Amino acid sequence: MMSREMTSSFLLVSFAICQLIISVGPSELFRIGAIVVDGYFSVHPSDLASVSSDFGMLKSPEEPLAVLHPSSAEDVARLVRTAYGSATAFPVSARGHGHSINGQAAVGRNGVVVEMNHGVIGTPEPLIRPDEMYVDVWGGELWVDVLMKTLEHGLAPKSWTDYLYLTVGGTLSNAGISGQAFHHGPQISNVLELDVVTGKGEVMRCSEDENTRLFHGVLGGLGQLGIITRARIALEPAPQRVRWIRVLYSSFEVFTEDQEYLISMHGELKFDYVEGFVIVDEGLVNNWRSSFFSPRNPVKISSVSSNGSVLYCLEITKNYHDSDSETVNQEVEILMKKLNFIPTSVFTTDLQYVDFLDRVHKAELKLRSKNLWEVPHPWLNLFVPKSRISDFDKGVFKGILGNKTSGPILIYPMNKDKWDERSSAVTPDEEVFYLVALLRSALKDGEETQKLEYLKDQNRRILEFCEQAKINVKQYLPHHATQEEWVAHFGDKWDRFRSLKAEFDPRHILATGQRIFQNPSLSLFPPSSSSSSAASW
Ligand code: FAD
Repeated sequence: MMSREMTSSFLLVSFAICQLIISVGPSELFRIGAIVVDGYFSVHPSDLASVSSDFGMLKSPEEPLAVLHPSSAEDVARLVRTAYGSATAFPVSARGHGHSINGQAAVGRNGVVVEMNHGVIGTPEPLIRPDEMYVDVWGGELWVDVLMKTLEHGLAPKSWTDYLYLTVGGTLSNAGISGQAFHHGPQISNVLELDVVTGKGEVMRCSEDENTRLFHGVLGGLGQLGIITRARIALEPAPQRVRWIRVLYSSFEVFTEDQEYLISMHGELKFDYVEGFVIVDEGLVNNWRSSFFSPRNPVKISSVSSNGSVLYCLEITKNYHDSDSETVNQEVEILMKKLNFIPTSVFTTDLQYVDFLDRVHKAELKLRSKNLWEVPHPWLNLFVPKSRISDFDKGVFKGILGNKTSGPILIYPMNKDKWDERSSAVTPDEEVFYLVALLRSALKDGEETQKLEYLKDQNRRILEFCEQAKINVKQYLPHHATQEEWVAHFGDKWDRFRSLKAEFDPRHILATGQRIFQNPSLSLFPPSSSSSSAASW
């Protein structure tokens, strides 16, 4: 990391160059540099390069003007105030850990990226209140660090993502889902309070009781209404261990019946996590999401395979404390009796809670060692209404995908009543809906079916199939190309979302990489313009 002095000199040199080529005036940039007291700006080539690409690797990298490493919400607010107040508003995007797929945290060459995760010294540490069962965390904190800190007090957040190297602000801007969501709701349903820097540069505290519209609007709001600098996350006593079970099905109907039965249970006797995945070809069994089926496992997948047709794997867990190891066996037995999986297909393991939650990171390390992590990821995540999941199975899993995939395909149901309708997150209009996550990696030198263009074309065909079959899917981690598509995506929520945008980010400065609202470099109206005109396309 560069010293502050080095960074400042880089900044000054670059200002002179930028003066000629950008629309943001150099005096304005200098003002930003001078006013950020605790954090620092960087125009170091490695810094610019590191924020100009993302996990998806689908877009050509485009370097921003500068990167702000803030050390406080006030640093972020000062930058946004300057952007908002300048004659030609320039874009400012928070970047979490850069795990977007389609450049959602990118800002373009006239903008400034706020690097939320790699904050300079001084970014607030997690503050835990065990008596009140919550933790206050910086918006750029990684979930894995939140977990480690809260475990020191025997506590943990309730709702998770499968992968923990994502930031709090990044997942709360989407929803944050995993196998706990059926019971606890997504991560956005487990937040008590936020500090948000709006598109006008105001730092606003919001919660169920204070600035309520902003609070709900920011949750699932794709970074459009403000930059989350602090989140208050609800906690529960952390279990010590996890019984982790996988069972197989050859019938999609039986598989989904069992999944739906399991997510309808909310009493003491229930599983704590319900997910599942599709096995289209045997190779998938050994993909990064299912290292679980180790070669040492006595049950061979081939012994339960139904003549090369699609298999479905239900994945469930039961949390427990060491002192309850006797009762967990009985509870699991009772719960499993109600399920109709292939009897010879039970795969069980038992591990520490922390190792279960951090399971995908182990797969990441393996893939990294084989240079298979930093490859293009044409991921497609869809919420599919329960009433049409069987049609989706026939058309996609047993149809479009063929018998080759290039990564895990997750499928699990959730209960809509665990999602707060006031949030900006968008889900299908049915009480139960499924996440279908096609998490594929493209390989340059792989078979035809592993190439990027092939996989992108398959995604396009899947979306087209849903449209033609009138399956009203909603994209999760959405990516749309036109205004009409965004309006359709938000559906009933569009008018409210647009009016919140007009109120809290009237110059369309924030998270422009989502491409929902017009690019601010084109919005030449002064900040005093009325909000309704600012909101127009
Ligand atoms: P970024 O990708 O950096 O940012 C995402 C968007 O949020 C951008 O528009 C950005 O401007 C905005 N943003 C970032 N920080 C803030 C902030 N503080 N305030 C306001 N806006 C902000 N998602 C799930 O729900 N469940 C999963 O199980 C899951 N598993 C994943 C596994 C892997 C390997 C990967 C790569 C992604 C996974 N995701 C999952 C998706 C993840 O939730 C998104 O990538 C999300 O964007 C978080 O990533 P990030 O923190 O790196 O944010």
